[in-house]
Amino acid sequence: MRLSHPYMYARLVAGDPTYNGQFFTGVRTTGIYCLPSCKARKPKPENVDFYPTCEAARAAGLRACRKCHPDDYARGSDPVREDMETLAAEIRENPAWFADVPALVKRSGFGTTRFFELCRQHFHLTPAELILRSRLARAKVSLATTNTKLADLAFDAGFESLSVFHEHFRRSQGVTPAAYRALAAAGAAGFAIELPPAYPRAHLVRALGRDPVSVTERIDQGVFTLVTRVDTLPVKIRLDLRSDPLVATWELLLTPSGPQPALGAAVHAVVGGLLGLGQETVPFVRLAAKLGLARLTAGREELRLSQTPTVFDGLLWSIIGQQINLPFAYQLRRRLFERAGQRVSEDWYLPPTPAAVAALDVADLLPLKFSRPKASYLIEISRQVASGALPLDALALQSATRVERTLLGVRGLGPWSVNYVMMRALGFADCVPLGDTGVGSGLQALFGLTERPDHDATRRLMAVFSPYRSLATAHLWQLTQPAPT
Ligand SMILES: [Zn+2]
Repeated sequence: MRLSHPYMYARLVAGDPTYNGQFFTGVRTTGIYCLPSCKARKPKPENVDFYPTCEAARAAGLRACRKCHPDDYARGSDPVREDMETLAAEIRENPAWFADVPALVKRSGFGTTRFFELCRQHFHLTPAELILRSRLARAKVSLATTNTKLADLAFDAGFESLSVFHEHFRRSQGVTPAAYRALAAAGAAGFAIELPPAYPRAHLVRALGRDPVSVTERIDQGVFTLVTRVDTLPVKIRLDLRSDPLVATWELLLTPSGPQPALGAAVHAVVGGLLGLGQETVPFVRLAAKLGLARLTAGREELRLSQTPTVFDGLLWSIIGQQINLPFAYQLRRRLFERAGQRVSEDWYLPPTPAAVAALDVADLLPLKFSRPKASYLIEISRQVASGALPLDALALQSATRVERTLLGVRGLGPWSVNYVMMRALGFADCVPLGDTGVGSGLQALFGLTERPDHDATRRLMAVFSPYRSLATAHLWQLTQPAPT
């Protein structure tokens, strides 16, 4: 790709991180070269030269910037990020080691302000959220796999008391610890899950039922049915959206009778994701009000972003849904699933596995009305997932900055797709799907703009919602639609 000088200069002024690695900016007056996203003061255009590599910039006599570390970036290493990832792994491994945020800050070796900023940048979380998530994850594994008494288990996970554990668990998981243990046990086939007070149920129903031609999910008489794989096994999940609390049940498909594997914990994770239960709404609603933008969240303060059942589902959709209208995208998804998925009954299919899409040929998808680039991206990316070159499940445990860089390096994934996958499939809290028409229309309505903002304007306008830009996106999507009935 050849980029013009004015174009690259505009990316530099915008501080656009999506161009990091695609070119380096050298400044004649300072003798320094940088990444396009560098936060250093912007040079005048006549003083800037662009270089394809760090080597080329050094050959021209320039030195690497000490703020943005372009050489580290080019090598694929970022020492600060690696420190943060090591620390996050340590918390996951030993959540009880860190009594509170000051203990974590101390262990990190960074100053408090810097550490908060690094957590936000690399994990889209506050340090307190980082600790809490690790504690809850540890407690869930212990509940599902041991008979340890609740009080001991809470203490082992780092909670200061049984009642604090109980409260956090119930709020984020929709079930009590005891109920979670029961649903995760062998032989369980259902559970009741509590929604937060004032949860906008009608928005959930609209989100879950929005694809009228789906062969994997459907709402019928207030019951959402989903066919998916859970721990690689084919499962049909039913979620009764009319009851309070909601009731989820599941059955194994296509398997001979015999001892049933315990799938409850994994089904609970899928259902919790669909409901967006782990997402913190209060700080964002408070931020919107502080900005004088309470109208963004009014009437749906408890709105969450529904997560896709699997990461691969989100990835497929991010490619299928690029740059075409929704009804056509739904049709394409259905045709792909009918072609590469597995039929489980009259009108239900299991979504295709990465291997099944990888085994297709571009020529198989053209008659289904996929464009040639879309077909080749789908197949190429599925091959990378199937071969293990793109390990999707590992992404959820990596830093947001590493995931973003990995996904932007995949052919066929642009900024929209990357942020869409990060937000809807991996659950990162501070993403903006740049170029999304719904976000653009929402911002236009929210700020009373005469036209829909372009990428740079979108990035600028969305900056005020950091670190909750994923939830801001969910609300912006609603802003130009009528309220659901
Ligand atoms: Zn720099």
